[in-house]
Amino acid sequence: MDLASYIRTVPDFPKPGIQFKDITTLLQNPQAFKYIIDQWKERYTPHDPHSIVGADARGFIFGSALAYAMEKPFVLVRKKGKLPHDTIAEEYELEYGTDVLEIHIDSIQKDDRIIMVDDLLATGGTMEAAGKMVETLGGNIVEMAFVVELPLLKGRERLEKYDIHSLVEFMVD
Ligand code: AMP
Repeated sequence: MDLASYIRTVPDFPKPGIQFKDITTLLQNPQAFKYIIDQWKERYTPHDPHSIVGADARGFIFGSALAYAMEKPFVLVRKKGKLPHDTIAEEYELEYGTDVLEIHIDSIQKDDRIIMVDDLLATGGTMEAAGKMVETLGGNIVEMAFVVELPLLKGRERLEKYDIHSLVEFMVD
């Protein structure tokens, strides 16, 4: 399946110079969406993970679909202030400034095997922060899965301590 053909590139969004990879067009194609989840289900079933962790917000779309397909718990990593129960937090860098991610402290148990999911790997800052929190709670990260990877932004290098998997690459920065 040529996943790249279903992903729309929007130049200069959200600011000049960014080539935004828009997965809303992919989601309008049920076969493409199903292909992604089927690929991951086949890849991760042998690992028998305890939970799937998805990153706010597009990671929820792909992560929760995978959790449903694998009949596994789904855990949300959210932007600050959205989770109602007790949380731990991790600050991470954006291009300008910082942001904070949170996770419920009771969402992962010690030694749980975890698959982390987001829509896109750019610099890796988001998943680095999410991974730190999962590990603080005692989780073992089996792999981090992305639909799209932008290799020129070197996310894999930043996340070198983890196994990384992506389904489509675009050579843009
Ligand atoms: P990063 O933390 O730099 O790896 O950025 C990853 C997060 O930012 C993901 O949640 C993406 O949805 C979003 N993101 C970063 N760059 C892009 C891009 N060029 N197109 C679409 N989403 C992006």
